[in-house]
Amino acid sequence: KIYYDQDADLNVLKDKTIVFLGFGNQGAAQAQNLRDSGIPNEQILIANRPDSYAEDAKAKGFKVEHDFVKAAKAADVVFILVPDQVQPRVFNETFTPNLKDTAAIVVASGYNVFFKLLKFKPTQDVVMVAPRMIGSSVRSLYVKGKGFPCFVSVEQDGTGNGLAVALALSRAIGATKAGAIDSSVYEETAMDLFAEQALWPNIIMLFREAFSVLKDAGCSDEALCYEMWMSKEPAEIFERAAEDGFIAQLKHHSTVSQYGQLSGALALDGTATREHFKNILHNQVLNGKFSGEFTKIEADLEKEGDENPLNVLYKKSEETELVQAEKRVRSRLANLL
Ligand code: NDP
Repeated sequence: KIYYDQDADLNVLKDKTIVFLGFGNQGAAQAQNLRDSGIPNEQILIANRPDSYAEDAKAKGFKVEHDFVKAAKAADVVFILVPDQVQPRVFNETFTPNLKDTAAIVVASGYNVFFKLLKFKPTQDVVMVAPRMIGSSVRSLYVKGKGFPCFVSVEQDGTGNGLAVALALSRAIGATKAGAIDSSVYEETAMDLFAEQALWPNIIMLFREAFSVLKDAGCSDEALCYEMWMSKEPAEIFERAAEDGFIAQLKHHSTVSQYGQLSGALALDGTATREHFKNILHNQVLNGKFSGEFTKIEADLEKEGDENPLNVLYKKSEETELVQAEKRVRSRLANLL
């Protein structure tokens, strides 16, 4: 099901205090869109620690509350728009004990709700309004009068009014203009984590191995970097795929290329890859193995140097031939400029 503006009634939000926990990528964009949709500024409150994000919110004319307990007590609706890994800590400690029994809680990603990492009362509404866009595009498309793709769902209908609230909020942030797709935290989390842990790691590995094979065959760093990604050809291919069709975009390529790509893809046996993908989806993503491991290291992500596991992964990845070669190419380019 796809919901459009006419399915949503903004009157549902009349006199409700809407709190944005976080004024980052999504928070800043969604709060501004909501206000520009006619929700009075007095009804909007930004909950943020006293720093540059808070200053940005004030500069944009919003009321800002640094005390999260006070913000929680005032909220009829709370958009949780701080990074996913900090949500359980921040929300469960300051919002859960202080929110109204009938409050509506909005997430922009399914992760913490699907893995039951956030605590709600059964009387509250829990909805997902998840733009499939970075925050700057959520704002710029709205300003241009355009919509953006978005997933919407009601995960807990404590008040019996969850869908009406979810749709009104979706409309207010501009998500029903192009149609908000009925989804669920299960679907959103499965697809997101699968893409992040199965599809894209394989794509990174394919590029890494392709680079090494062609380098061994005598191709130069410069030629390889440009051929494979620096020319932006892959970005253009995906743009065409979105516009014309995943396979239909091939018609823009040379006949040699079309024949090579189609015959090559059909000749590849995907059985082993399918099993590998299923294994990641079921035994790493959906069973909570990854989220359990991630929760354990989450606090370390704020550490410096090698104590931060993300820094260690970056370091290891930078040792690969592809990244080393790219560094050389980029430094030579810088010398040319
Ligand atoms: P950001 O990284 O932009 O969030 C920054 C905001 O979070 C700032 O207000 C920051 O304020 C606050 N914040 C960060 N750490 C803490 C903390 N420890 N305590 C309190 N506040 C904190 O987040 P995004 O907008 O990228 O993501 C928000 C949600 O939107 C997530 O659920 C994400 O999955 C989802 N989403 C994001 C998309 C994107 O393009 N980025 C796309 C679709 C969904 P300060 O540090 O000053 O406290």
